[in-house]
Amino acid sequence: MAVSVELTHVTKAFDTTLAVNDVSLRIEDGEFFFLLGPSGCGKSTFLRILAGFYKPDTGELRFDDTVMNNVPPHQRNTGMVFQNYALWPHMSVAENIEYGLTLRKLEKSERAEKIRRALEMVQMEGYHDRAVNTLSGGQQQRIALARALVIEPSVLLLDEPISNLDAALRQQMRDEIKQIHDRTNITMFYVTHDQVDALSMADRMAIMQDGIIVQVGTPREIYQFPKNAFVASFVGETNFIFGKVQSISNGTATIETPVGTLRSEAVYHELTHGATVQCSIRPEALVIDGVQNGNNRAENRIDAKVTVVNYLGRVEEYQLMAADIPLKAVHYNPGTEAKRPGDTIQLAISAEAVIPLPD
Ligand code: ATP
Repeated sequence: MAVSVELTHVTKAFDTTLAVNDVSLRIEDGEFFFLLGPSGCGKSTFLRILAGFYKPDTGELRFDDTVMNNVPPHQRNTGMVFQNYALWPHMSVAENIEYGLTLRKLEKSERAEKIRRALEMVQMEGYHDRAVNTLSGGQQQRIALARALVIEPSVLLLDEPISNLDAALRQQMRDEIKQIHDRTNITMFYVTHDQVDALSMADRMAIMQDGIIVQVGTPREIYQFPKNAFVASFVGETNFIFGKVQSISNGTATIETPVGTLRSEAVYHELTHGATVQCSIRPEALVIDGVQNGNNRAENRIDAKVTVVNYLGRVEEYQLMAADIPLKAVHYNPGTEAKRPGDTIQLAISAEAVIPLPD
């Protein structure tokens, strides 16, 4: 049975480093939840607290209504999948998967049936007797998933499980892991620094920085309404243009910037007249010569110079310079006419795409 996971004011320090700093968070029963943040922000420490390898210094961890602070790892019914697979190389696929079932003292026939179902779940039915050291990285990670799933965990913990795989296989595994979640409805908690993992699979995600949870939301909420400049730049790419709030009323603002006055209709932070802000504008919102991405609701115009053009077929990427501010634009479905480095262009930006963030 899947469980909800709730942390209340949980802190874990190593000497003077607050690896997890007063975190309160609730993960719903059956949710696929991601913890996303840069290296060293505290993700692994957080995961180890859920697994029971670390005890919080302060605060409370609950699975459903049960306080887990003092429950040892082997009594938590959590499954784990690691970046390096952590399989036993001298054992067969079936023996690796069987291990957790033997510990739970299940009958041989019941074990065999559960192994069969776990292999089916990860689409590795034909590999029952293979030695794991003869499998590819992707196949080993599927077996690691099967081993974690076979015990029917209350929570499945995944620590950067696909980081060792090449790009094409990573995409395939994302699809498969998401399907496994959809089929099993287990509560899944996945830590990563890879925004694509989180954006493509998460029901909800938390963004962590220096031990603190900065923002929690669905991938769309986080991408479209970042709480601050760190979140805007860590999740997806963005451009920042510094400015000062000139006027503000009813969700719209005008902001004085080095590239001219920008109008924003995406004000969802407290802003005061005269405050300095960073305007976050996604590369796909910079419309070159006003006719890109089918978006003609542009209300801001910026003059810019092209510095680099990268034609990639489906998209064309531009590096630009506007009043000494480097900008990046992405143009989907580029036509036959190319811009060249040195060209002067006009960028159009919808007021809805200019997000002023507190500095
Ligand atoms: P990465 O993505 O690089 O694995 P992370 O986000 O998982 O990083 P943690 O491993 O949780 O980060 O580390 C958070 C902070 O706590 C870091 O500053 C790290 O140096 C420190 N830290 C983690 N484990 C220990 C430990 N056992 N002893 C001392 N400091 C530690």
